[in-house]
Amino acid sequence: MNAETRPVLKSAHAAYFTETVESVHHWTERLFSFRCTRNPALRFTAGQFVMIGLVVDGKPLVRAYSVASPPYDEGLEFLSIKVQDGPLTSRLQHIRPGDEILVGRKSVGTLVTDALLPGRTLWLYGTGTGLAPFLSLIREPEVYDRFERVVLLHGVRQVKELAYAAMIEALPRDEVLGELVGDKLLYYPTVTREPFRNQGRVTDLIRSGKLFSDLGLPRFTPESDRIMLCGSPEMLAETKDLLEGMGFEEGANSRPGHYVIEKAFVEK
Ligand SMILES: Cc1cc2nc3c(=O)[nH]c(=O)nc-3n(C[C@H](O)[C@H](O)[C@H](O)COP(=O)(O)OP(=O)(O)OC[C@H]3O[C@@H](n4cnc5c(N)ncnc54)[C@H](O)[C@@H]3O)c2cc1C
Repeated sequence: MNAETRPVLKSAHAAYFTETVESVHHWTERLFSFRCTRNPALRFTAGQFVMIGLVVDGKPLVRAYSVASPPYDEGLEFLSIKVQDGPLTSRLQHIRPGDEILVGRKSVGTLVTDALLPGRTLWLYGTGTGLAPFLSLIREPEVYDRFERVVLLHGVRQVKELAYAAMIEALPRDEVLGELVGDKLLYYPTVTREPFRNQGRVTDLIRSGKLFSDLGLPRFTPESDRIMLCGSPEMLAETKDLLEGMGFEEGANSRPGHYVIEKAFVEK
């Protein structure tokens, strides 16, 4: 019987599709990613998030997750933290191929290109699992139609947390996307607690101007640059302050602006 038509799950969890885990990759003791099947009825825009989770004690236990895969991918991919005493991820970190997971039918979020005014350069800045929505956006062809250049900034504490670095670096040579991405995509990973070629917090690198000199780009301005942020509540508050001080105005789906933000998680 198809998982979707299983009577118990269908009546109890009508807000969710039941999908099957296809593969799991553990990056570190605190970070993993996985792929699962995707019901063709699930529609989303690159950058959006859905509720995903597990059935625990007969009830859905779900959390918000950015979709890391692009909208044209037949499967779904997610990048996840492992919180040792976290209600969901203490369990989710043990999933294996063949296991079932719940995926919400509704996709939402502000990290979408429609919430931004037209511009020349799109800056995507994520810390930790805040990289996830940008993994979808950098593989969305429409992004390269709208912007002349796309810069992906990923801030982590340790080098081993630079998940997907190899995939990102290989995109310009990708069979399908390569031509579109070409030299438009710049990747700037930075590490705060270990030696690495780029070091320090992005906000400090913006203030000092090092970010721009390293990339060979002019300082960003509200006239030509658009920014998407995804990180901890503190990272968002600090970066938002910095951007507002430079004249950037926050956008929303109903009122496009110079930058948009989304929490990578909520502090409880
Ligand atoms: C819009 C949105 C999108 C999200 N997308 C993702 C995603 O793509 N991947 C992902 O792993 N999580 C994501 N989260 C966080 C996610 O919803 C859960 O909080 C996370 O899966 C942990 O669930 P839990 O039940 O184990 O612990 P929770 O009780 O939810 O969290 C416990 C504590 O763990 C810490 N924490 C939770 N999530 C993270 C995280 N991602 N990074 C660092 N610390 C964290 C916080 O201090 C939190 O208070 C997102 C949250 C929001 C609001």
